[in-house]
Amino acid sequence: MGYSNYTIVTLGSHSALQILKGAKDEGFKTAVVVTPDRIPLYKSYDNFIDQILEIQSWQDFPKIEKDLGSDFIIIPHGSFVAYLGMDENKKMKVPYFGNKKVLDWEEDRKMQRRWMEESGVKVPRRFRKGDKTDRPVIVKSYGAAGGKGYFTARNQKELDEKLKTFSEERFMVQEYVIGVPVYFHFFYSPLTHKVELMSVDKRYETNVDSLGRIPAKNQRGLNIEPSFEVVANIPMAVRESMVAVAVEMAQRVIKTSQKLIGPKGLFGPFCLETIVTSSEEIYVIEISARIVAGTNCFINGSPYTYLLYDEPMSTGRRIAREIKNAIKQNKLKEVLD
Ligand code: AMP
Ligand code: AMP
Repeated sequence: MGYSNYTIVTLGSHSALQILKGAKDEGFKTAVVVTPDRIPLYKSYDNFIDQILEIQSWQDFPKIEKDLGSDFIIIPHGSFVAYLGMDENKKMKVPYFGNKKVLDWEEDRKMQRRWMEESGVKVPRRFRKGDKTDRPVIVKSYGAAGGKGYFTARNQKELDEKLKTFSEERFMVQEYVIGVPVYFHFFYSPLTHKVELMSVDKRYETNVDSLGRIPAKNQRGLNIEPSFEVVANIPMAVRESMVAVAVEMAQRVIKTSQKLIGPKGLFGPFCLETIVTSSEEIYVIEISARIVAGTNCFINGSPYTYLLYDEPMSTGRRIAREIKNAIKQNKLKEVLD
């Protein structure tokens, strides 16, 4: 079957517009699964969205999934685990771009930490239950939550107090690294065995990114707690010396995934979320094993994709290109789960 007979489908949220625009540019048919409130948005892009599949709520996704044939290919993004849950993701029968085994390694913070450590990347110190914290920490719950529900504590006493009223069961306490966040987006192709740097962003998080607007002396007494909810993403061009380090880290992360997760390992889009300190150390705070929303800044390509492609290449389009190449080379199975 030629690639133009396939339909690329995703959930209407997160980076769906980018994914579907990319799929259309590569010659695929496209479909989006949406809840009623979002139909006007996706309808307004009928130039590249062929089919709108309505469900009443995200919980109804399995009902519609049954009707999608083997000519549909689903592209997961940040909302899949957040809205459908882990089990639903694993149970999906529609051909799925990516390796579902990676989901466990991404979701479980301890497994992810092992993956990062074995990749030889610098990670913030972790404090286990019973450890004495001797520096500021950040407490992170599990799952892709876009920074929601994180909190910080300056010392052990503050940590103990805040944990008393914390309702999450699964979380990790990590050293709070003082520096700037830099998110590197990559794509690993199992067909060419190459890691491509796609783009770089930083997040615009409320309220941490606005705390500096009010001098510390005016903040005194306001009792502001920092929070890290992502609102938007901002494009970046990074010092080339740091790009060199990041690309090497990404290659090691891929190699290690093939050892830990199985021969296929991690492939397709992924992101190294880092904090860069004033001594130019790059700490990896998280591996996102999927397309991240920061790539939405680059639907028309980035400075880095311009170096590799003579046409606008978003991460969404790169995914579609990989599927197209796999079909042409009779290797579609290698990129689907
Ligand atoms: P939304 O597309 O706004 O419905 O977001 C769906 C989920 O994706 C959210 O609950 C977050 O977990 C995650 N998310 C959304 N936007 C971003 C972003 N810019 N960066 C990282 N995660 C995000
Ligand atoms: P994450 O969900 O891991 O991508 O983290 C969301 C945000 O929390 C980041 O963009 C940072 O602003 C902040 N953050 C997370 N972990 C750390 C850390 N170890 N040190 C400093 N800031 C952090």
